[in-house]
Amino acid sequence: MSTHEGSVAWAREYAGRGHGHWIDAAWVPATGATLDVVDPGRGEVIGAIAAGDAAVVDRAVASARASFEAGSWAGLSGTARSTVLLGIADEIAADAENLAHLEALDNGMPLASARGHVANAVQAFRYYAGMADKIFGHTSQIQARGHQFLGYSLKEPIGVAALVVPWNAPLRQTVYKVAPALAAGCSMVLKPAEETSLSGLRLAELLHRAGVPSGVFNVITGEGVPVGSGLAEHPGVDKLSFTGSTEVGRSIVAASAGNLKKLTLELGGKSPLILCADADLDRAAPTVAMSIFGNSGQVCSAASRLIVHRSIHDEVVERVSAFGRTLRLGYHDQEVDLGPLVSAKQLSRVSSYVDGGVAAGAEIVGGRPEGVPGDGYFYAPTVLAGVEPTMAVAREEIFGPVLAALAFDEVDEAVALANDTAFGLAGSVFTRDVGRAHAMAARIRAGRVGINVHGITDFTMPGGGYKESGWGRENGPAALDPYLETKAVFTALDG
Ligand code: NAD
Repeated sequence: MSTHEGSVAWAREYAGRGHGHWIDAAWVPATGATLDVVDPGRGEVIGAIAAGDAAVVDRAVASARASFEAGSWAGLSGTARSTVLLGIADEIAADAENLAHLEALDNGMPLASARGHVANAVQAFRYYAGMADKIFGHTSQIQARGHQFLGYSLKEPIGVAALVVPWNAPLRQTVYKVAPALAAGCSMVLKPAEETSLSGLRLAELLHRAGVPSGVFNVITGEGVPVGSGLAEHPGVDKLSFTGSTEVGRSIVAASAGNLKKLTLELGGKSPLILCADADLDRAAPTVAMSIFGNSGQVCSAASRLIVHRSIHDEVVERVSAFGRTLRLGYHDQEVDLGPLVSAKQLSRVSSYVDGGVAAGAEIVGGRPEGVPGDGYFYAPTVLAGVEPTMAVAREEIFGPVLAALAFDEVDEAVALANDTAFGLAGSVFTRDVGRAHAMAARIRAGRVGINVHGITDFTMPGGGYKESGWGRENGPAALDPYLETKAVFTALDG
């Protein structure tokens, strides 16, 4: 059997095992209800995961708390934690092909994308391994009350962290939380999205193999309510890091008020891509297309609003639509450019937005695309022109391969349109004029701005949102801060 066939078979077998929760380094079987694992390409049920409840949340939080209090991880030196993180990277690298097939099967993304996410996970653990032994405070000579003091600050792990992630890039979103939380010395409970829990469960096994002590990393599966909400309400959780929709982010803020747990929120977007009249269209048209069609539009920073100079509007929308039609849609284990949407629910959401946009007066450039595979949750790349800024397709996050094109005449108008949104996750400007590029980038109210590129995500750079796209930042040089508390210590030097 070839490696490819072997990994396809392994992923299906793993999906079909019937998974429980991972608590205190052991599998805890589902005690009640289960949730289907569905192959979104073929619309088939291929397995089941446990549907957790309040008791499971309590048990997982207790496991994390006990390991934290015992100091089995938080009490290690940064160097010792770094060594384990490097070992995790090696375990993921050794499992890369199987893990990529599992991710592609569960989410529907093309295998090439899943391989990229796994490779990125390996690098991210190595990056955070380099940070685990560089957690520094500072010192200060102080004179107060007529005496001399030495002040120093300590950075301490925040405690028990709950990590709640979405389905669109499951492993990647998970690693961007788990790796810094481990580097900081936290114990944690991961709650993957109910649509895509398999890579998080596999990760638990790999972390265990690499030597992460029992109870430090727990995974509980199930619906947002009661599992995600249970973590948000739980008094035993000190910190919650959430990636997902703005709507759920709001409910997490409310639910976490009881013990005022610290929050990081990476939320939704409706990101603008401004295309100026002088842009290099041969380069820009495919980039515009892949900035919204990549991963079938299920990307938080997707360039879902094209703000294009009126003089090139018609040519650009034709080119982007034509490019979209060249993309091969298909199953995760074939050579494809785009996979299906993650679920029947997501397919229905995307279809109804497009139908609503057409009913409101927008036009599908080139008509509705044809030749879409029929058995799974596929939706073809779609370009909408004649969009007004007030339409739902221009204001709300669709999270599918649907581009809303808006025309502008003056630069100020383009910036105003770009900022005319409740979101502020990402944005970009395409122009050959360097001065204009930087001036416009400074005016876009978003956490991540591209110049002649859109939506790059990298663990070496901070990511996060302005406005209703979130609180705080993940990744980059300050990535450990959300998982650390800072303590100031004052020492009397003269008795
Ligand atoms: P979602 O908000 O529906 O769910 C995300 C996670 O929250 C899931 O694990 C879900 O089970 C859980 N959840 C649901 N209800 C909850 C509740 N009441 N309390 C606690 N947890 C709850 O999002 P989704 O549909 O899985 O993912 C798509 C969304 O994620 C989009 O809005 C997208 O923009 C966003 N996203 C943001 C980023 C970013 O970095 N800003 C990255 C990827 C995705």
